[in-house]
Amino acid sequence: MQALQDYAALVTGGGKGIGRAVVDRFVAEGARVGVLVRAGADADDLIAAHGDAVAPVIGDVRSWDDNLRAVETVVDRFGKLDVLVPNAGVYDFSVPFEDQTGPELAERFDELMAVNVKGYLLAARAALEPLRASRGAIVFTLSSSSFHAGGGGVLYVTAKHALVGTVRQLAFELAPEIRVNAVAPGGTRTGLGGLASAGAEATRLDAVDGFDRMVAKTVPLGFLSEPDDHAAAYVLLASREAARFMTAVILPSDGGLEVRGGGRRRRG
Ligand code: NAD
Repeated sequence: MQALQDYAALVTGGGKGIGRAVVDRFVAEGARVGVLVRAGADADDLIAAHGDAVAPVIGDVRSWDDNLRAVETVVDRFGKLDVLVPNAGVYDFSVPFEDQTGPELAERFDELMAVNVKGYLLAARAALEPLRASRGAIVFTLSSSSFHAGGGGVLYVTAKHALVGTVRQLAFELAPEIRVNAVAPGGTRTGLGGLASAGAEATRLDAVDGFDRMVAKTVPLGFLSEPDDHAAAYVLLASREAARFMTAVILPSDGGLEVRGGGRRRRG
Protein backbone atom coordinates (compact mmCIF):
# COMPACT_ATOMS: atom_id res chain seq x y z
CA MET A 1 0.00 0.00 0.00
CA GLN A 2 1.20 3.51 -0.82
CA ALA A 3 1.93 5.78 2.17
CA LEU A 4 -0.44 8.57 1.06
CA GLN A 5 -3.07 6.56 -0.80
CA ASP A 6 -6.18 8.71 -1.42
CA TYR A 7 -4.75 11.69 0.46
CA ALA A 8 -5.48 15.19 -0.84
CA ALA A 9 -2.67 17.70 -0.35
CA LEU A 10 -1.78 21.30 -1.11
CA VAL A 11 1.82 22.45 -1.69
CA THR A 12 2.67 26.15 -2.06
CA GLY A 13 5.60 27.02 -4.31
CA GLY A 14 5.40 23.51 -5.72
CA GLY A 15 6.26 24.38 -9.31
CA LYS A 16 9.99 24.01 -8.81
CA GLY A 17 12.71 22.89 -6.40
CA ILE A 18 11.90 21.23 -3.09
CA GLY A 19 8.15 21.86 -3.45
CA ARG A 20 8.09 20.17 -6.86
CA ALA A 21 9.97 17.16 -5.45
CA VAL A 22 7.34 16.93 -2.70
CA VAL A 23 4.52 17.06 -5.27
CA ASP A 24 6.17 14.33 -7.36
CA ARG A 25 6.72 12.08 -4.32
CA PHE A 26 3.21 12.67 -2.91
CA VAL A 27 1.68 11.69 -6.27
CA ALA A 28 3.92 8.60 -6.39
CA GLU A 29 2.63 7.71 -2.92
CA GLY A 30 -0.99 7.86 -4.08
CA ALA A 31 -1.98 11.44 -3.23
CA ARG A 32 -3.73 14.03 -5.36
CA VAL A 33 -2.12 17.44 -4.98
CA GLY A 34 -3.16 21.05 -5.39
CA VAL A 35 -0.18 23.26 -6.16
CA LEU A 36 -0.02 27.02 -5.69
CA VAL A 37 2.41 28.34 -8.31
CA ARG A 38 3.31 31.79 -9.56
CA ALA A 39 3.96 30.99 -13.20
CA GLY A 40 1.64 29.54 -15.83
CA ALA A 41 4.56 27.52 -17.23
CA ASP A 42 4.92 25.69 -13.90
CA ALA A 43 1.21 24.82 -13.98
CA ASP A 44 1.60 23.43 -17.53
CA ASP A 45 4.63 21.33 -16.48
CA LEU A 46 2.75 19.86 -13.53
CA ILE A 47 -0.24 18.87 -15.66
CA ALA A 48 2.06 17.38 -18.32
CA ALA A 49 3.75 15.26 -15.62
CA HIS A 50 0.78 14.26 -13.49
CA GLY A 51 -2.49 14.96 -15.36
CA ASP A 52 -5.59 14.80 -13.16
CA ALA A 53 -3.56 13.97 -10.05
CA VAL A 54 -2.61 17.64 -9.71
CA ALA A 55 -4.62 20.85 -9.53
CA PRO A 56 -2.35 23.84 -10.12
CA VAL A 57 -3.57 27.27 -8.99
CA ILE A 58 -1.74 30.38 -10.14
CA GLY A 59 -1.33 32.92 -7.35
CA ASP A 60 0.84 34.70 -4.82
CA VAL A 61 1.26 33.36 -1.27
CA ARG A 62 1.20 36.93 0.06
CA SER A 63 -2.48 37.15 -0.91
CA TRP A 64 -5.18 35.82 1.41
CA ASP A 65 -7.56 35.40 -1.53
CA ASP A 66 -5.05 33.30 -3.47
CA ASN A 67 -4.42 31.00 -0.50
CA LEU A 68 -8.15 30.58 0.03
CA ARG A 69 -8.69 29.87 -3.67
CA ALA A 70 -5.97 27.21 -3.59
CA VAL A 71 -7.55 25.46 -0.59
CA GLU A 72 -11.04 25.68 -2.16
CA THR A 73 -9.70 24.24 -5.40
CA VAL A 74 -8.34 21.18 -3.60
CA VAL A 75 -11.59 20.64 -1.70
CA ASP A 76 -13.67 21.10 -4.87
CA ARG A 77 -11.49 18.81 -7.00
CA PHE A 78 -10.52 16.14 -4.48
CA GLY A 79 -13.29 16.38 -1.86
CA LYS A 80 -11.09 17.13 1.17
CA LEU A 81 -7.68 18.32 2.35
CA ASP A 82 -5.42 16.00 4.37
CA VAL A 83 -2.03 17.72 4.16
CA LEU A 84 -0.83 21.28 3.71
CA VAL A 85 2.81 22.00 2.80
CA PRO A 86 3.59 25.74 3.07
CA ASN A 87 6.86 25.95 1.16
CA ALA A 88 7.12 28.98 -1.17
CA GLY A 89 10.08 31.14 -0.28
CA VAL A 90 12.62 33.72 -1.39
CA TYR A 91 16.23 34.29 -0.36
CA ASP A 92 18.36 37.28 0.64
CA PHE A 93 21.63 35.95 -0.82
CA SER A 94 23.51 36.64 2.41
CA VAL A 95 23.88 40.40 1.91
CA PRO A 96 25.77 41.62 5.02
CA PHE A 97 23.66 43.55 7.53
CA GLU A 98 25.83 46.65 7.45
CA ASP A 99 25.83 46.80 3.66
CA GLN A 100 22.11 47.61 3.70
CA THR A 101 20.83 51.12 4.45
CA GLY A 102 17.96 51.53 6.89
CA PRO A 103 15.40 52.18 4.14
CA GLU A 104 16.69 49.18 2.12
CA LEU A 105 16.44 46.97 5.18
CA ALA A 106 12.87 48.14 5.84
CA GLU A 107 11.71 47.41 2.30
CA ARG A 108 13.49 44.05 2.00
CA PHE A 109 12.20 42.97 5.42
CA ASP A 110 8.63 43.60 4.31
CA GLU A 111 9.06 41.59 1.11
CA LEU A 112 10.92 38.63 2.60
CA MET A 113 8.72 38.32 5.67
CA ALA A 114 5.58 38.63 3.55
CA VAL A 115 6.53 35.63 1.42
CA ASN A 116 8.44 33.44 3.89
CA VAL A 117 6.38 34.00 7.05
CA LYS A 118 3.04 35.66 6.25
CA GLY A 119 2.58 33.32 3.29
CA TYR A 120 2.89 30.32 5.63
CA LEU A 121 0.43 31.76 8.16
CA LEU A 122 -2.15 32.63 5.50
CA ALA A 123 -1.95 29.16 3.97
CA ALA A 124 -2.39 27.53 7.37
CA ARG A 125 -5.34 29.79 8.21
CA ALA A 126 -7.03 29.13 4.87
CA ALA A 127 -6.63 25.37 5.33
CA LEU A 128 -7.80 25.23 8.94
CA GLU A 129 -11.36 23.98 8.58
CA PRO A 130 -10.73 21.25 5.97
CA LEU A 131 -7.65 20.07 7.88
CA ARG A 132 -9.65 19.92 11.10
CA ALA A 133 -12.38 17.96 9.34
CA SER A 134 -9.88 15.40 7.99
CA ARG A 135 -7.73 15.33 11.16
CA GLY A 136 -4.93 16.27 8.83
CA ALA A 137 -1.42 17.64 9.04
CA ILE A 138 0.68 20.67 8.18
CA VAL A 139 4.30 20.10 7.12
CA PHE A 140 6.17 23.40 6.81
CA THR A 141 9.43 23.83 4.91
CA LEU A 142 11.89 25.36 7.38
CA SER A 143 15.67 25.38 6.87
CA SER A 144 19.03 24.80 8.52
CA SER A 145 18.78 28.61 8.78
CA SER A 146 16.04 28.00 11.38
CA PHE A 147 18.83 26.90 13.77
CA HIS A 148 22.19 28.15 12.48
CA ALA A 149 23.71 31.47 11.43
CA GLY A 150 25.56 31.92 8.16
CA GLY A 151 23.25 30.09 5.74
CA GLY A 152 21.75 33.38 4.62
CA GLY A 153 21.70 37.02 5.63
CA VAL A 154 19.94 38.48 8.66
CA LEU A 155 16.55 38.71 6.94
CA TYR A 156 16.43 35.07 5.77
CA VAL A 157 17.83 33.71 9.04
CA THR A 158 15.41 35.85 11.05
CA ALA A 159 12.46 34.61 8.99
CA LYS A 160 13.43 30.94 9.22
CA HIS A 161 14.01 31.22 12.98
CA ALA A 162 10.59 32.89 13.33
CA LEU A 163 9.00 29.84 11.72
CA VAL A 164 10.21 27.65 14.59
CA GLY A 165 7.75 29.65 16.70
CA THR A 166 5.06 29.18 14.08
CA VAL A 167 5.45 25.39 14.16
CA ARG A 168 5.45 25.26 17.94
CA GLN A 169 2.54 27.65 18.51
CA LEU A 170 0.32 26.07 15.85
CA ALA A 171 1.17 22.55 17.07
CA PHE A 172 0.07 23.70 20.52
CA GLU A 173 -3.12 25.46 19.39
CA LEU A 174 -4.30 23.00 16.75
CA ALA A 175 -3.80 19.74 18.67
CA PRO A 176 -5.29 17.23 18.82
CA GLU A 177 -7.06 17.52 15.46
CA ILE A 178 -4.18 18.80 13.32
CA ARG A 179 -0.55 17.69 13.63
CA VAL A 180 1.94 20.48 12.84
CA ASN A 181 5.52 19.57 11.90
CA ALA A 182 8.30 20.71 9.58
CA VAL A 183 11.22 19.56 7.48
CA ALA A 184 14.39 21.66 7.73
CA PRO A 185 16.49 21.11 4.61
CA GLY A 186 20.09 22.20 4.39
CA GLY A 187 21.79 23.44 1.23
CA THR A 188 19.89 22.15 -1.80
CA ARG A 189 20.46 22.56 -5.53
CA THR A 190 17.48 24.75 -6.53
CA GLY A 191 16.82 28.01 -8.30
CA LEU A 192 15.68 29.70 -5.07
CA GLY A 193 15.22 33.34 -6.08
CA GLY A 194 16.02 36.73 -4.60
CA LEU A 195 14.09 39.81 -3.58
CA ALA A 196 12.59 42.23 -6.10
CA SER A 197 13.19 45.00 -3.55
CA ALA A 198 16.93 44.17 -3.65
CA GLY A 199 17.00 44.03 -7.46
CA ALA A 200 17.68 40.28 -7.19
CA GLU A 201 14.45 38.81 -8.52
CA ALA A 202 16.30 37.06 -11.36
CA THR A 203 19.18 35.80 -9.20
CA ARG A 204 19.15 32.05 -8.57
CA LEU A 205 20.84 30.08 -5.80
CA ASP A 206 22.02 27.34 -8.17
CA ALA A 207 23.83 29.96 -10.25
CA VAL A 208 25.89 31.20 -7.30
CA ASP A 209 29.50 30.35 -8.04
CA GLY A 210 30.88 27.77 -5.64
CA PHE A 211 27.60 27.11 -3.78
CA ASP A 212 27.87 23.34 -4.23
CA ARG A 213 31.50 23.26 -3.06
CA MET A 214 30.73 25.49 -0.07
CA VAL A 215 27.90 23.21 1.11
CA ALA A 216 29.91 20.05 0.45
CA LYS A 217 32.77 21.44 2.54
CA THR A 218 30.51 22.56 5.38
CA VAL A 219 28.34 19.50 6.05
CA PRO A 220 29.68 16.25 7.51
CA LEU A 221 28.03 14.14 4.80
CA GLY A 222 30.01 16.13 2.25
CA PHE A 223 27.65 16.91 -0.63
CA LEU A 224 25.03 19.40 -1.82
CA SER A 225 21.59 17.80 -1.61
CA GLU A 226 19.03 17.54 -4.41
CA PRO A 227 15.35 18.46 -3.84
CA ASP A 228 14.30 14.81 -3.87
CA ASP A 229 16.65 14.02 -0.97
CA HIS A 230 14.13 15.67 1.38
CA ALA A 231 10.89 14.28 -0.06
CA ALA A 232 10.62 11.16 2.11
CA ALA A 233 10.74 13.28 5.27
CA TYR A 234 7.60 15.12 4.09
CA VAL A 235 5.87 11.80 3.39
CA LEU A 236 6.67 10.57 6.90
CA LEU A 237 5.30 13.68 8.61
CA ALA A 238 2.25 13.81 6.30
CA SER A 239 1.21 10.23 7.05
CA ARG A 240 -1.36 9.90 9.82
CA GLU A 241 -0.41 6.26 10.27
CA ALA A 242 3.38 6.66 10.32
CA ALA A 243 3.48 9.92 12.31
CA ARG A 244 0.36 9.51 14.46
CA PHE A 245 2.20 10.55 17.66
CA MET A 246 4.36 13.30 16.11
CA THR A 247 3.59 16.98 16.37
CA ALA A 248 5.85 20.05 16.88
CA VAL A 249 8.72 18.07 15.30
CA ILE A 250 11.23 19.83 13.04
CA LEU A 251 13.11 17.17 11.13
CA PRO A 252 16.53 18.27 9.82
CA SER A 253 17.60 16.97 6.41
CA ASP A 254 20.89 18.83 6.29
CA GLY A 255 23.86 16.49 6.00
CA GLY A 256 24.59 16.61 9.73
CA LEU A 257 25.18 20.33 10.36
CA GLU A 258 24.51 19.81 14.06
CA VAL A 259 27.69 17.75 14.40
CA ARG A 260 29.87 19.85 12.14
CA GLY A 261 32.10 20.36 15.18
CA GLY A 262 35.18 22.52 15.52
CA GLY A 263 38.35 20.83 14.42
CA ARG A 264 38.48 18.34 11.61
CA ARG A 265 37.83 14.76 11.21
CA ARG A 266 37.07 13.45 7.75
CA ARG A 267 39.62 10.96 6.46
CA GLY A 268 40.64 10.66 2.86
P1 NAD B 1 12.57 27.32 -5.55
O1 NAD B 1 12.76 28.71 -6.03
O2 NAD B 1 12.83 26.19 -6.47
O3 NAD B 1 11.12 27.14 -4.93
C1 NAD B 1 10.44 28.22 -4.34
C2 NAD B 1 9.12 28.39 -5.04
O4 NAD B 1 8.38 29.42 -4.37
C3 NAD B 1 9.27 28.78 -6.51
O5 NAD B 1 8.51 27.92 -7.31
C4 NAD B 1 8.72 30.20 -6.54
O6 NAD B 1 8.05 30.51 -7.75
C5 NAD B 1 7.75 30.17 -5.38
N1 NAD B 1 7.44 31.52 -4.87
C6 NAD B 1 8.31 32.50 -4.52
N2 NAD B 1 7.63 33.58 -4.14
C7 NAD B 1 6.30 33.28 -4.25
C8 NAD B 1 5.11 33.99 -4.03
N3 NAD B 1 5.13 35.26 -3.59
N4 NAD B 1 3.93 33.36 -4.25
C9 NAD B 1 3.90 32.10 -4.71
N5 NAD B 1 5.00 31.36 -4.95
C10 NAD B 1 6.19 31.97 -4.73
O7 NAD B 1 13.50 27.19 -4.24
P2 NAD B 1 13.53 26.05 -3.11
O8 NAD B 1 14.92 26.07 -2.61
O9 NAD B 1 12.91 24.80 -3.54
O10 NAD B 1 12.63 26.74 -1.97
C11 NAD B 1 11.54 26.08 -1.33
C12 NAD B 1 11.64 26.30 0.16
O11 NAD B 1 12.80 25.63 0.63
C13 NAD B 1 11.80 27.77 0.59
O12 NAD B 1 10.98 28.00 1.72
C14 NAD B 1 13.26 27.86 0.96
O13 NAD B 1 13.50 28.87 1.90
C15 NAD B 1 13.49 26.47 1.53
N6 NAD B 1 14.87 26.03 1.63
C16 NAD B 1 15.71 26.01 0.55
C17 NAD B 1 17.02 25.58 0.71
C18 NAD B 1 18.01 25.53 -0.44
O14 NAD B 1 19.23 25.43 -0.20
N7 NAD B 1 17.56 25.61 -1.69
C19 NAD B 1 17.47 25.13 1.97
C20 NAD B 1 16.59 25.14 3.04
C21 NAD B 1 15.29 25.58 2.87
